[in-house]
Amino acid sequence: MKIIMLGAPGAGKGTQAKMIAEKYGVPHISTGDIFRANIKNGTQLGMEAKKYMDQGLLVPDELTVKILLDRVAGEDCKNGYVLDGFPRTIPQAQVLDEALTELGDQIDYAINVDVPDENIIKRMGGRRACLSCGATYHIEHVPPKKEGVCDVCGQELVLRDDDKPETVKNRLQVYHDQTQPLIDFYTQKNVLRTVDGTADMQDVFAAIVAILG
Ligand code: ADP
Ligand code: ADP
Ligand code: ZN
Repeated sequence: MKIIMLGAPGAGKGTQAKMIAEKYGVPHISTGDIFRANIKNGTQLGMEAKKYMDQGLLVPDELTVKILLDRVAGEDCKNGYVLDGFPRTIPQAQVLDEALTELGDQIDYAINVDVPDENIIKRMGGRRACLSCGATYHIEHVPPKKEGVCDVCGQELVLRDDDKPETVKNRLQVYHDQTQPLIDFYTQKNVLRTVDGTADMQDVFAAIVAILG
């Protein structure tokens, strides 16, 4: 099963992708998590990506595509995967499509998690992230057991630099300009399914499970 999560920053793609990965036994692949892990480890890739991420801009396609194609070539991706945050541009989608076509394969579903901009702005300020294991919390909706500490690995939770209000506005603009066109791209391929991302996260998940079967 090969699934793509589409939606604005903060729509709940990561939250749902983790639940899908667990239920269907496929890896959750987040390009944002891969970049943040590289930043944390001070790699060349991390330093390059950070320049863009801090401004709420997209990391250039050349860098991003290579990382993603390497990742999905991994042995654990044989039975599928759930992509969270990739593709984010039409050229990225085209490269993925060509790579899959070469293997006689295709994406099964692109799940569009639909949340209006007003809700996004409110949500992002409350997001807390664990940069060690990628777990995500929300100070109201998904609080950790102990304030400021990751339930999974015990590391400190942070407000991501790019979740500050000014950067969120840039990211929403970038989303509308560069990522939203993917909705048409996957509609034309007959794999787009839209769910109401403003619902409670368990209800959003139930809607996704109804689609995936
Ligand atoms: P969000 O939680 O807002 O969806 P992500 O963790 O997916 O954020 O991404 C954070 C940042 O990482 C993006 O704003 C962008 O700078 C970079 N990034 C992640 N995925 C991609 C991608 N597919 N193409 C370009 N940049 C990306
Ligand atoms: P994305 O990966 O699309 O950027 P996340 O999954 O990180 O989004 O979710 C953004 C924030 O909103 C997180 O703090 C998360 O805990 C919270 N969240 C996710 N889904 C919901 C929901 N259905 N209702 C309320 N808050 C949610
Ligand atoms: Zn953690």
